[in-house]
Amino acid sequence: MSKRKPPRILTVVRKEQLTPHMLRVTLGGVGLQGFPEDQEGAHVKVLIPQGDIDPAEFVSRIVDGQRPVMRTYTVRQHRVEENELDIDFVIHGDGGPASNWAQAALPGDYIGLFGPGPKKMTYLDADWFLLAADMTAIPAAAAALEALPKDAVGTAVFEVTSEEDKQEIDAPAGIDIHWLVHANPAQRSYQQSDFIRKMRWRPGYPSVFVAGESGVVKELRTHLYQERGIPKEDTYVSAYWKIGLEEDAHQIQKRMAAA
Ligand SMILES: Cc1cc2nc3c(=O)[nH]c(=O)nc-3n(C[C@H](O)[C@H](O)[C@H](O)COP(=O)(O)OP(=O)(O)OC[C@H]3O[C@@H](n4cnc5c(N)ncnc54)[C@H](O)[C@@H]3O)c2cc1C
Repeated sequence: MSKRKPPRILTVVRKEQLTPHMLRVTLGGVGLQGFPEDQEGAHVKVLIPQGDIDPAEFVSRIVDGQRPVMRTYTVRQHRVEENELDIDFVIHGDGGPASNWAQAALPGDYIGLFGPGPKKMTYLDADWFLLAADMTAIPAAAAALEALPKDAVGTAVFEVTSEEDKQEIDAPAGIDIHWLVHANPAQRSYQQSDFIRKMRWRPGYPSVFVAGESGVVKELRTHLYQERGIPKEDTYVSAYWKIGLEEDAHQIQKRMAAA
């Protein structure tokens, strides 16, 4: 059997409860050394240890072909000098291994990591910027906003689980951030698409970032491509999770739909 690439092994440095439903886990350790710089907003795969196995055994099983429990997350911040990387986990209370791991993790615990993948909002020559995200995609959207030119203008629509889940984001002053509250993410929301359908459309050509729950993303995709006629190549539109499906099943559905 062919050997697989070993993942990085990172250790939990500390945790911070950013908001009631968002937990920041700061990772570090020798396994983080050499992680590429300037990857805020890019995704990574986190590999979650099951049971009480030591990191060497965990790596050796993966190299030998065992498929670990793997989930997709976003590099929120990477402080190279301090050798620290932050990942913001939504605590969704639906029994997922990643959300559960983040809640239970203690300093010194370990996790595997593959990546990073590509950054998300890369079209920066636009006249204005439109971003829509739920809590799972706020880390990527916030990293994108923080990387925009300071004179950028546009609209961001962020949906969170409670008023207290609103976050500070260092966005350009010309980006209007609208916070919507949807208390039960396990139920389909229509607020983001209603907002975007009704909002004042700015003149000129937009760069678009849309990510979050599959049903919301699907509706916005139809609106933006078919009703607004925005060309796909200048957009990042991606379903980050789907109500009722764990990530592996959702990824399979996404691959079949793209084929
Ligand atoms: C490119 C990319 C980047 C991502 N970045 C982040 C990130 O930075 N932070 C982050 O928190 N998530 C992020 N996600 C989403 C995350 O991968 C999923 O939410 C994933 O399902 C969480 O895994 P889990 O083990 O907790 O739950 P799973 O085992 O995958 O799912 C268990 C159950 O929980 C439900 N569920 C999953 N997520 C949610 C949710 N947010 N709210 C309510 N119910 C949910 C599922 O529908 C399922 O019923 C990203 C996804 C992608 C594709």
